[in-house]
Amino acid sequence: NQTGKNLKKLIESNFPKEIKEIIMHGSNLADKLGYRIFLVGGIVRDLILNINNYDIDLVIEGDGLEFARELNEILNGEINTYDQFKTASIVTKDGIKIDIATARREFYEFPAALPQVEQSSIKFDLYRRDFTINTLAISLNRDTFGILLDFFGGEKDIIDRKIKILYNLSFIEDPIRIFRAVRFKHRLGFKIDDNTWELARNAVKSDVMHEISFQRIKEELYIIFDEVNTVDILNDLKKLGILKEIFPEISSWDKVFSMIAQCKKGIEWYKSISKTSEKLNNRFLYSIIFCYLSESDEDLYKKFGLSKNQREIIRFIRIKGREIIGKVTQDDIKPFELFSLLKDIPDEGLIFLTILSKKKRQMKNRVKQFITELRSIRIYITGKDLEELGVKPGPLYKEIINKIYREKINGKIKTREEELELLRVMIKEKREDEEIV
Ligand code: ATP
Repeated sequence: NQTGKNLKKLIESNFPKEIKEIIMHGSNLADKLGYRIFLVGGIVRDLILNINNYDIDLVIEGDGLEFARELNEILNGEINTYDQFKTASIVTKDGIKIDIATARREFYEFPAALPQVEQSSIKFDLYRRDFTINTLAISLNRDTFGILLDFFGGEKDIIDRKIKILYNLSFIEDPIRIFRAVRFKHRLGFKIDDNTWELARNAVKSDVMHEISFQRIKEELYIIFDEVNTVDILNDLKKLGILKEIFPEISSWDKVFSMIAQCKKGIEWYKSISKTSEKLNNRFLYSIIFCYLSESDEDLYKKFGLSKNQREIIRFIRIKGREIIGKVTQDDIKPFELFSLLKDIPDEGLIFLTILSKKKRQMKNRVKQFITELRSIRIYITGKDLEELGVKPGPLYKEIINKIYREKINGKIKTREEELELLRVMIKEKREDEEIV
């Protein structure tokens, strides 16, 4: 199990200074407390693969919670402890994430239940992990610093680029691992081992998907949405029979896949035109696709946990979407009309409409015009200007403001002077009308 390999040099050459500092603090602290300390999981896998991954995952043989608290005394970050699982997580001031676990052995009382925790050693801790490629550990105590521990053949599987579970009941115990297997396959460009694939299929057939909460599935889906290869991942989940289990509401997966692929491009396009792209809620955007293409969207609203406002937006798009696209893509649409059609739709909805549209280029140009020009147009005149000319708040006031807005957006007027001029003319006309009446 101790490979005799020492990764000290790799740690020194591959990790940035901040990460190495945290590792050294951890090492010294564990020595002081008399605990064994290991770097484990994804960060070790990615170190061997030369992939940048700086989420630090530590396992302590000893009191992991005490260790975490003392480490955070040194680092002064934000700490969260989960007493039940004897785990803690720290986020440093630089935003580095550190997960700390107490080496433990888990017993599952029945399939898909939460594990019961009891203290044990590193080997048992690694045995409870999902795949062999995630079972490598590097010792960090001073006397054994850098030594690679490989109990389950993880290093070979990394080199062979293979995803393998550790024991046959793994997927039955935690079906979420099936999602993870497919995700790692596409992220890392690995292959799922034949036996592991078969066991995943069998697990799905034995109805195990219904044992997990949709909350967990949803979290996994959100990670998948953010991956580069979302469609490939979903395609594998379809092949495994998972998608029809978790989304019986959806009949045409080809449409979903096609929309997701377009959505990825849509997000990139949106980022290229918008200055506020960080505010985009990708999750909501993807849920629009699922809800739009489902036969009973009400069920999906619940599954995705959408807010009342978000549900209303999707209902609105369902009823009015095509009609709005039709109007927006007309050749002779005036800017103010475009503005009025799009002003109440959030950006996620706008991107969705560009995906839905058949005249994509036209639609994108119009949405771009709305986002980058029209919606930031403001008028100069204020209530005070109207008041000085004798107009009090009320229906007339609104009518005037709307008209000025319309002319401004349509490009008929530009300066404050022109706005005031129009204002005077409108008031004059109104007064004359009233006199005639
Ligand atoms: P990512 O790059 O997505 O963060 P990761 O492997 O680096 O992947 P996590 O997904 O946060 O990190 O998981 C941390 C470790 O916990 C993994 O290395 C994995 O071994 C283990 N793990 C996570 N989820 C499960 C699970 N459902 N069953 C078993 N082990 C798991």
